[in-house]
Amino acid sequence: GGAVAFEDVRFGYDPDRQILNGVSFKIEPGHTLAVVGPSGAGKSTIARLLYRFYDITGGRITIDGQDLRDVTQSSLRSVIGIVPQDTVLFNDSIGYNIGYGREGSSQIEIEEAARGASIHGFVESLPEQYAAKVGERGLKLSGGEKQRVAIARTLLKNPPILILDEATSALDSRTESEIQATLERISERRTTIIIAHRLSTIVDADQIMVLDAGRVAEQGTHNELLRKG
Ligand code: ADP
Ligand code: ADP
Repeated sequence: GGAVAFEDVRFGYDPDRQILNGVSFKIEPGHTLAVVGPSGAGKSTIARLLYRFYDITGGRITIDGQDLRDVTQSSLRSVIGIVPQDTVLFNDSIGYNIGYGREGSSQIEIEEAARGASIHGFVESLPEQYAAKVGERGLKLSGGEKQRVAIARTLLKNPPILILDEATSALDSRTESEIQATLERISERRTTIIIAHRLSTIVDADQIMVLDAGRVAEQGTHNELLRKG
């Protein structure tokens, strides 16, 4: 699973101001789509609509061919994992932050899970002094480390569809490319990934969609977009 389609999607937060003016795209299961474009173009809005924080006013959104309106909130939450731009962590351990909210999990189970294989090496990619102390409380983490924890937390759900909403934009380029490399490994595990990003630094995406003022300005592979100039 994990096929996503937007068909002529229209939406505005206010009835008198349209934000998306007929957006269409398709993502094959396991593919990566980068949604790029200037601030205010509507990138985050696409992410929020897919998670059904808001209802669309026209068109259709489907997951694996099923209309989003027919998908329950709880199944949507198990199918989609979303990593937001700014992550607020609890003043607790890395393990706690990665595992909290998992039903029936004790602190120990949470930390075991965080250490487990299902986090795709994110904790292991933390600086050694942190990776060794997943259960230690009151850690001070940098922005990049916090973001890794946020991504690991979402990956623990093993969602078929992963949305990164400017999740790496605030990071330095080295940290960002490390996280990109990890995402490529995840992608090989047939996770559908949608990345919203201000800059088109994401050359590895299967498809790039350039959004401008709520319209699709360009869409294609990196090479196709380069050829068009
Ligand atoms: P991007 O992610 O590309 O920066 P957004 O999707 O966040 O763009 O925003 C698109 C437009 O929608 C902007 O003009 C923004 O001001 C507006 N907008 C975003 N969130 C809200 C909201 N909750 N209520 C009203 N307008 C909003
Ligand atoms: P979980 O159930 O995994 O704790 P949620 O599914 O409630 O998380 O939310 C996922 C992420 O989306 C959270 O980081 C939350 O801050 C963010 N979020 C929640 N509501 C909104 C919203 N209306 N607009 C944008 N982001 C939101």
